[in-house]
Amino acid sequence: MLLELENVSRSYRGRNGSRVDAVQNVDLAMEPGEFVAVGGPSGSGKSTLLLIAGGLLAPDTGTVHVLGKQPYAMNADERSRFRSVTLGFVFQQFHLVPYLSVLENVLAPSLGAAIRGANSRAEQLVARFGLDNRIGHLPGEMSTGERQRTAMARALMNHPKLLLADEPTGNLDQENQDLLLDCLREEASCGTAVLLVTHDQQAAGRADRTIGLHDGQLHQK
Ligand code: ADP
Repeated sequence: MLLELENVSRSYRGRNGSRVDAVQNVDLAMEPGEFVAVGGPSGSGKSTLLLIAGGLLAPDTGTVHVLGKQPYAMNADERSRFRSVTLGFVFQQFHLVPYLSVLENVLAPSLGAAIRGANSRAEQLVARFGLDNRIGHLPGEMSTGERQRTAMARALMNHPKLLLADEPTGNLDQENQDLLLDCLREEASCGTAVLLVTHDQQAAGRADRTIGLHDGQLHQK
């Protein structure tokens, strides 16, 4: 099993001290090559679940295994290194480094992971996403679609086993949405497990299976 969440729960304390149960008693297992979409209304816990699966937010209770390892049993340095060699992330807001070029942004994950042939891998990814003629541009000099394609290239840089995407098509026109979803599909067919958070039915329809969250609880569809 590539990803295994067992009975995972996470709550937050609001400013007024009230408790929000963002994710409650969720079980989720994913095999290599599986493409799973997580749907559900805004505030239902989708992003929280993705952060937990991605080793970025420890659950209050329950266990998380990625490739048989428990990221939250590691210390912060080990976990960070584990993330960089195992996981790829794409977010709706891209999170590109504003003062780095396209090529440097794509290369960034390789810095801590000693990837062989990192430069040529990054150049191939830049070409795959049609960014050759933008390779030296800064994020601020590019269109939304180009920024998201750069973020996707960066997520793939280290050959992730698990690709996590949080509403990655939210800001994109139809053409770029299709391109990004095709890419997620293709990565899954090459053996990467893909976990996509989306409230877009069309995007969810590209997945092998869809699960729905409501008030932090899972409903298999
Ligand atoms: P979704 O991605 O489905 O919109 P989230 O996982 O972002 O849902 O949020 C689930 C619930 O947890 C929401 O009610 C949200 O307001 C709350 N929440 C999320 N992050 C925090 C936080 N850092 N502090 C307090 N409440 C939070």
